[in-house]
Amino acid sequence: MISPTKMSKPRLEGKVALVTGAASGIGEEAVRLFAENGAYIVAADVQDQLGHRVVESIGLDKASYRHCDVRDEKQVEETVSYTLEKYGKLDVLFSNAGIIGPLTGILELDIEGFDNTMATNVRGVAATIKHGARAMVAKNIRGSIICTTSVASTLGGTGPHAYTTSKHALVGLVKTACSELGAYGIRVNSISPFGVATPLSCAAYNLQPDEVEGNSCALANLKGIVLKARHVAEAALFLASDESAYVSGHNLIVDGGFTVVSHRYGV
Ligand code: NAD
Repeated sequence: MISPTKMSKPRLEGKVALVTGAASGIGEEAVRLFAENGAYIVAADVQDQLGHRVVESIGLDKASYRHCDVRDEKQVEETVSYTLEKYGKLDVLFSNAGIIGPLTGILELDIEGFDNTMATNVRGVAATIKHGARAMVAKNIRGSIICTTSVASTLGGTGPHAYTTSKHALVGLVKTACSELGAYGIRVNSISPFGVATPLSCAAYNLQPDEVEGNSCALANLKGIVLKARHVAEAALFLASDESAYVSGHNLIVDGGFTVVSHRYGV
């Protein structure tokens, strides 16, 4: 048995984390993992029933739910204010909410759908960083901001056009926010997952979770492992914790090497 003195401290002990897109998929997995690691959670989403269910299962002493549509800056601002009122500070902002948007080709591009994807995946994250970082600066918190991008942030052809555009833009947003917020000791990073079976990926392609995983495994470079939302949440935990204390402006690609190998030529 490990003696209590040898047991390591929870990695987010006493920290306060706000997670958007927290009712489902990667965000849900992250709030569970952050809470297991000692964080107090504000889970924000537009799926209220699911969101309430997630925080109730974690425990209302540790987690609370807020309705927040990230496309509406006022709701974002109110969610950050709620976090400060409830827990007194904000240490970790996981700006994870996102949509895949329309799957139309460039020749039939759905411009309204394009705008909505950008409003959610880019403007929503920008508003979240703005208000989250303001809260950190005001309280003199050396916080960690994490955004969820995608393998579509570095490669074309892995997702719809608006989605790929939005995720490329996020990498720029992370870099530029990092350049300004470093002066306050605030780190800004992103995580780029490969295909994970979540409601987003299942609904987009009308597939069951095992079919999404089967497709990802067939395309994957790293064999013998199925990418799960938990693996992405583990990457977020690393970036949220002090273990990544000097990591900023980084896009942590969680793809088993998919984006760095040629998919045309075998060796
Ligand atoms: P998901 O659908 O399970 O979760 C996304 C959550 O975001 C949902 O709960 C949804 O209600 C919420 N959301 C959507 N629009 C919102 C808005 N306007 N305001 C607030 N919340 C909103 O999907 P997921 O796969 O867990 O997606 C999480 C993030 O991961 C997204 O940014 C997505 O682009 C990214 N991602 C997913 C995959 C994948 O294969 N699943 C791969 C790479 C990146």
